[in-house]
Amino acid sequence: MTESEVIGDVPKELFIAGAWRPAKSAARLAVEDPATGQPLCEIADAGEADALAALAAAHDAQAAWGAHPPRERGEILRRAFELIAERIDELAMLMSLEMGKSLAEARGEVAYANDFLRWFSEEAVRIRGSYTTSPNGKARLLTMRQPVGPCLLITPWNFPLAMGTRKIGPALAAGCTMVVKPAKQTPLSMLALGKIFQEAGLPAGVLNIVTTSDAGAVTDPLFDDPRLRKLSFTGSTEVGRLLAKRAMDRVLRVSMELGGNAALLVFEDADLELAIDQTMMAKLRNMGEACTSANRLYVAAPVADEFARRLAARMEQLRLGRGVDPDTDVGPLIDAIQRDKVHELVTDAVERGATVLTGGGPLDGPGYFYRPTVLTNVADSSRVLTEEIFGPVAPIVAFDTEAEALAKANDTEYGLIGYVFTRDLGRALRVAEALDTGMVGLNQGVPSNTAAPFGGVKQSGFGREGGAEGIEEYLSVKYVGIGM
Ligand code: NAP
Repeated sequence: MTESEVIGDVPKELFIAGAWRPAKSAARLAVEDPATGQPLCEIADAGEADALAALAAAHDAQAAWGAHPPRERGEILRRAFELIAERIDELAMLMSLEMGKSLAEARGEVAYANDFLRWFSEEAVRIRGSYTTSPNGKARLLTMRQPVGPCLLITPWNFPLAMGTRKIGPALAAGCTMVVKPAKQTPLSMLALGKIFQEAGLPAGVLNIVTTSDAGAVTDPLFDDPRLRKLSFTGSTEVGRLLAKRAMDRVLRVSMELGGNAALLVFEDADLELAIDQTMMAKLRNMGEACTSANRLYVAAPVADEFARRLAARMEQLRLGRGVDPDTDVGPLIDAIQRDKVHELVTDAVERGATVLTGGGPLDGPGYFYRPTVLTNVADSSRVLTEEIFGPVAPIVAFDTEAEALAKANDTEYGLIGYVFTRDLGRALRVAEALDTGMVGLNQGVPSNTAAPFGGVKQSGFGREGGAEGIEEYLSVKYVGIGM
């Protein structure tokens, strides 16, 4: 399919109660290509009344969907999985157009996103309870797991499909209905997903999609509505904090997947070739616009220079371009604000004494491109080490001891993921245990896996997505005490 056919195929309206309808105000929202800054299309721009209509639809569908046989819930998920697998190239092109990532990365994300639908299609039939004897033998204790109820799912722009299916998959499997609010910069992948679920036979009202230019104004009234039972949010810590507070006004169930500031530790005994290969992925996947992106590279002093030199050489080989161009390795950043913020962090590091081994600035011309950058001699006080970079910038700091590396790695308010490269088993386990994070990549740069629990500690959030844990976020445990 051509670019315009792919864009033409996406529904451009709100998906509410099983129908595609314009915003009540008839307002439109433009979606742009970050590689050119040019508009791709316009879609419905929802207001408060549309969001409330979506919640009403989710509420009305809840009882029947919660009672829907788990096997059938799983089979609808499986059908959606198969439809996505057939359309992987179109969906990858669509994602690349709205978000900028290369086609290869977009295909990878579509496959990863889709795997959550397969995984949770299998989990739908494994929602367990228990029946036990009370310790004094006089009663029986029955527990069951029931759907939490209508959910509000808010997703970011950096992984337009995967951040959605990681929530939608378990919510559907658990028997929850939902209102999904994708990011305004990348709503098209989510609208395409809505169409796929419609084709897969999902009953009307179970999944509702609301696109808007004013996220706060549209979602805020939902927090006052007793029909809403859960919030699952993926995005920045700053917005997550606000929404978590708001959700507590009505004591909603809450899951929070927030920002990161991952440290990547390379010890002297590491396989350096492997560490460099994996660092390229941990750093440059999604142009560095990932919550799991390696933000700070701590490398043992004896190998730090060689590591930096070889990493810079690898980065210099990368081709920047429009994601949909098959020759592109690295696409643009999402917008001018993000590109300028990345440059501000690099400039701050340089002003504090950092050396630029490669890159160091944006590309001239249209689009929001930033050159893959390696910095050495980075001062501990540099903002590039304390703030989430969200760009293709690798700041390298040399360390002398394991204790020093660990202290630096843990010296952050975030706790999403850490990476460790070493061939010493004792050290590997010691450091993996000591990292104050929800996840660790041990000799690997992209440990995300559908079958594993993804999530953070500290200000990176709480709750887990994927794995056996993922569905629990959408289930409440009910206990029935039985007198004998
Ligand atoms: P963001 O600005 O926090 O936005 C995330 C989502 O929240 C978007 O849909 C956004 O809508 C919406 N939003 C913003 N303000 C809101 C408000 N007041 N009320 C309700 N919704 C609101 O984050 P982002 O820039 O899209 O994404 C990047 C961040 O996400 C990074 O910090 C990254 O680390 C984090 N992230 C975390 C994970 C994880 O699993 N831990 C995964 C991916 C990304 P609009 O975009 O339409 O304004």
